[in-house]
Amino acid sequence: MSAESELLAAVPDGLFIGGEWVPAAAGGTLEVRDPSTGEVIRTIADADATDGARALDAAVAAQGEWAATPPRQRAEILRRTWELLQEHADDLALLMTLEMGKPLAEARGEVAYGGEFLRWFSEEAVRIGGRYGVNPEGTGRMIVTQRPVGPCYLITPWNFPLAMATRKIAPALAAGCTVVIKPAELTPLTTLFFATLLQRAGLPAGVVNVVTTSSSAAVSEPIIADPRLRKLSFTGSTAVGRKLIQQSADNVLRTSMELGGNAPFLVFDDADLDAAIDGAMLAKFRNIGQACTAANRFLVHESVADEFTRRITERVQQLRVGRGTEEGVTIGPLIDDRAVDKADALVRDAVDRGARLVTGGERLEGPGTFYAPTVVSDVKAGSDILREEIFGPVVSVVPFRDEDDAVRLANDTEYGLVSYVYTRDLARGQRMIERLETGMMGLNVGVVSNAAAPFGGMKQSGNGREGGFEGIQEYLETKYTLTPNP
Ligand code: NAD
Repeated sequence: MSAESELLAAVPDGLFIGGEWVPAAAGGTLEVRDPSTGEVIRTIADADATDGARALDAAVAAQGEWAATPPRQRAEILRRTWELLQEHADDLALLMTLEMGKPLAEARGEVAYGGEFLRWFSEEAVRIGGRYGVNPEGTGRMIVTQRPVGPCYLITPWNFPLAMATRKIAPALAAGCTVVIKPAELTPLTTLFFATLLQRAGLPAGVVNVVTTSSSAAVSEPIIADPRLRKLSFTGSTAVGRKLIQQSADNVLRTSMELGGNAPFLVFDDADLDAAIDGAMLAKFRNIGQACTAANRFLVHESVADEFTRRITERVQQLRVGRGTEEGVTIGPLIDDRAVDKADALVRDAVDRGARLVTGGERLEGPGTFYAPTVVSDVKAGSDILREEIFGPVVSVVPFRDEDDAVRLANDTEYGLVSYVYTRDLARGQRMIERLETGMMGLNVGVVSNAAAPFGGMKQSGNGREGGFEGIQEYLETKYTLTPNP
């Protein structure tokens, strides 16, 4: 047996409910494919609404005891899971490469990043606060306490199969909440494998439940409608997030929404161009361009736009496309055919409206869903590529005239997740922090994600923050009591 098939065989094929691995009640199965070959790599349980309800029952049943478990004990389980994750870093990385396609080196990076949420929130679990004080009038005592919100439903996307799960599970568990998690149907294996680590770390039955399904809406709707559920945390597209917010309205459910992005990458004429090109390659091509934080629009001062385009094109032409498991590959496949069609349609539309295709711009032959690393320059206002997430290896360059023009272009989107700014002028950098409508900003850096920082967006990129001191607050309820002076 090859290492790949041995690892795949080690992934449970059941649903994880109440501490047990069980088949779907109706016996449904779901095929998971390797996007670099199109081949089925594993068949697992396909849950329906009955399974979803059982998973929520298990989370509800475990809630009281888990909330009463001393924070230090909850922290230690998270910490042990982090240690097990280090032991299995290669397994998790390979699994992500197989089911999602990212190059192995990047998958290892995701294991490190995703693992940090376990370590960070193991440290936060013991710092859940409260306060006690005299009210301003001096007539009484104010007591503020925090408690877990209760059972949570977590929905994650396919692009970061491990990190999107740990970024939600870790703070929820640290806060004392139990969860049902539903990974994306395209990449469920990583979450299933991760659940075995939680189990080995000593997590009590029912605290984390995993449902894998090809019927996301049918399974999710009744869970969201159930009044025992107290919180929904979603990472995915704005279109689906909007629907889930509507469904959450009936029970006035607490929600955290990590939605789409349309990140501007601003290069001013005073930027260090070497650093800007390095940052641009990271911000654009990490995860094959399939990141909510991916630079979507390169806004470059007109005096350096040609040089920027020439230099980034040289770098793009050096990228190596292939299966993520192969040594030296830097660009894997896109997740599926739809993703390839979308990237291609956006490039065609930009060119039809007058942009210059500098390199790439085509689907690559062979099995798997590959798209050539692409650069389009002089992209015209009104092009779809400036409005929609590309989610593929495509650089689109738009020249700007001056700072006001740059800010206007950067903010001209319904999204507001992350922005990147390259300038050597500190005052200009500070002005950008104030003027850009963005939840996060990379100032002379191309990647901002960090477990210790509040990750999240404004406008239609969502609400709530994951990571940092803020991350655990999403899973805590604040209670205030007033008593007379003693
Ligand atoms: P998606 O919205 O299609 O799916 C996300 C998840 O929602 C999946 O688990 C999917 O099965 C589930 N889902 C789909 N329809 C549903 C429904 N009607 N009811 C309940 N669940 C449903 O998004 P995707 O294609 O998996 O992921 C890509 C998107 O995620 C991009 O828009 C990207 O920007 C965004 N994203 C955001 C962040 C962030 O932190 N802001 C991080 C990663 C990805």
